[in-house]
Amino acid sequence: MTDKRCGVIAIVGRPNVGKSTLLNHLLGQKLSITSRKPQTTRNQVLGVRTDGHLQFIFVDTPGLHLGQSKAINQAMNKAASSALNGVDLILFLCDRAKWTEEDEFVMSLIAQQSCPAALVVNKVDLIQDQSTLLPFIEGLSSRFEFDAVLPVSALRSRGLDELVKYLERHVPEGPHLFPEDQITDRSQRFLAAELVREKIIRQLGDELPYAAAVEIESFAEDDRGVLHIHALILVERDGQKKILIGESGDRLKSIGTSARKDMERAFDSKVMLKLWVKVKSGWSDDARALKTLGLDALGDE
Ligand code: GDP
Ligand code: MG
Repeated sequence: MTDKRCGVIAIVGRPNVGKSTLLNHLLGQKLSITSRKPQTTRNQVLGVRTDGHLQFIFVDTPGLHLGQSKAINQAMNKAASSALNGVDLILFLCDRAKWTEEDEFVMSLIAQQSCPAALVVNKVDLIQDQSTLLPFIEGLSSRFEFDAVLPVSALRSRGLDELVKYLERHVPEGPHLFPEDQITDRSQRFLAAELVREKIIRQLGDELPYAAAVEIESFAEDDRGVLHIHALILVERDGQKKILIGESGDRLKSIGTSARKDMERAFDSKVMLKLWVKVKSGWSDDARALKTLGLDALGDE
């Protein structure tokens, strides 16, 4: 009776290879947050794409980080590993322009999994000499038996039709797990927090590495359909708070304005956004603080 098919697809790769960009293009909507700075995706974001009888459930793993001891990075590694359990297919993304120790680490993690993995060579638009691509692919393929090799440019939407066709062939039969119109299982609160965090990183990346966490304190719609969103930004030190607020509040205002515009687009509604900044010393090193912020939720089965 049912010819429905449904598959869980993990998008895996070190920070900055283009996972969020790929996911955004595959979903056709801005759900997972991208940035030129690594580590902007701290939580696992689930995106769902339904094409008729086919449903793809994408798992966008947080960055995998090698040899870092802070609790926050351990939680991220754990989340990335657990994202690979029970998936139907792994897309291993690498950046043709740059192969690192972290790529090696991710590849070793994939080698431990039993499901098929495809090598997705991203950013092929940056390759100057196309003849270097084949030896690169052959080198990797001689070390691991990839189910397929797919060169793409996530940013320029190149090779993505072929990628989707490949995914279609690998989605097993089964009922859809999400309603057709559902594009994410993450709440709007989560999206709102990610948008604020993205603006902080975009505007202050160098000065404020990733010491800021965002908590949505309230999220409510009034009777005129306006969304009132209050976000608390937690930083580690007083100096960071000063930078974030800026001279006479200019910086915070600009972060707020640009986050609000994105929220209005994402939620298709007018948004009133209020931002606060609070110093909470040492939060990123404190596993309990992670729990409070909901960042470790993915660690346990
Ligand atoms: P993630 O950390 O793996 O999620 O990577 P992002 O999706 O955030 O991308 C990191 C950076 O690489 C961003 O500046 C993207 O615009 C850029 N990027 C992603 N895909 C491509 C691509 O195909 N070509 C080029 N030139 N840049 C890309
Ligand atoms: Mg990302």
